[in-house]
Amino acid sequence: MNWLNDFKGRVETGARLADRTHYCLGGPARWMVSPKDADALADVIRRASAQGVATKVLGAGANVLVRDDGFDGVVIRLDEDYFTATSVDGDRVRAGGGADLMALAHTCSKLGLSGLERLAGIPATVGGAIRMNAGGKHGEIADVVERVTLIGPDGVDELANSEIGFGYRSSDVGDRIVASATLQLEHADADVTLERYRSIFREKTRTQPFTFSSAGCVFKNPGGQSAGALIDQAGLKGARHGGAYISDRHANFILAGPGATSADVLHLIDRAREAVSSAFGIDLELEIDVW
Ligand SMILES: Cc1cc2nc3c(=O)[nH]c(=O)nc-3n(C[C@H](O)[C@H](O)[C@H](O)COP(=O)(O)OP(=O)(O)OC[C@H]3O[C@@H](n4cnc5c(N)ncnc54)[C@H](O)[C@@H]3O)c2cc1C
Repeated sequence: MNWLNDFKGRVETGARLADRTHYCLGGPARWMVSPKDADALADVIRRASAQGVATKVLGAGANVLVRDDGFDGVVIRLDEDYFTATSVDGDRVRAGGGADLMALAHTCSKLGLSGLERLAGIPATVGGAIRMNAGGKHGEIADVVERVTLIGPDGVDELANSEIGFGYRSSDVGDRIVASATLQLEHADADVTLERYRSIFREKTRTQPFTFSSAGCVFKNPGGQSAGALIDQAGLKGARHGGAYISDRHANFILAGPGATSADVLHLIDRAREAVSSAFGIDLELEIDVW
């Protein structure tokens, strides 16, 4: 562990990633670190790069499938106060990259600040949501991001919304880490905003298998078509492999039941891709990040 000597933050070796992801699957990380502040974050990125150690950042783990043999590198978590803090100034919110998006959306809705209620029911940290441009039919996080601070191997970047390269479930964040963001919301009636938050949340739990282990939608919707409908029409709704199965409520969710392994989920991913490709000639692109 000598390359991490005197590091300003928590260090864990052989950390269980299954405990930190919504899939609850996969092997350990060789190292897991929680930097105390932005300097410590920049420091660990620099040290890892100098040592040739692979790095990844893990948010709420809601969009990641970790392979069964784990990750042979350092996983960075922004779970110290410095990165989880949020503050409100008028209609602007400043949030650390590790702040809990759902808690923030709920708080802002109660305060009569509108914008984030559109993302009700999306489990995420603010940084993970920005990296993925999380969203759905009611809107996406790009709609409310004003600025972000990114820390990466080449230093610190302060970017305005138009420089982040937001696209459908994507951004140009790349290998940089969202350390913090400023969100621009709108003053609105608190009762109306909170009711909208609740109704979007209810709709989501009604239409998606929300309480089972998953990483949400596995594939991006190709060219405006529903990936779930294509998988369903290809005859795979409810298909099983080992402990994993394709949800019969929403076929773009592959769920991990008792005894499931990451290999089981990956097997069903391949099957869904092959079935949709041979039935419709469409190549499904992964939305989840496989580590
Ligand atoms: C039940 C369920 C429902 C879901 N519904 C939706 C939905 O409606 N819409 C939607 O868009 N998504 C949905 N998702 C997927 C997930 O919630 C989003 O992709 C979310 O943005 C993931 O955020 P996270 O913090 O968990 O990121 P993680 O899953 O931890 O990481 C995702 C990616 O972002 C990177 N990352 C994480 N933190 C940072 C950071 N600070 N800086 C830079 N990169 C970072 C990771 O390295 C990884 O590549 C759902 C997931 C579940 C489990």
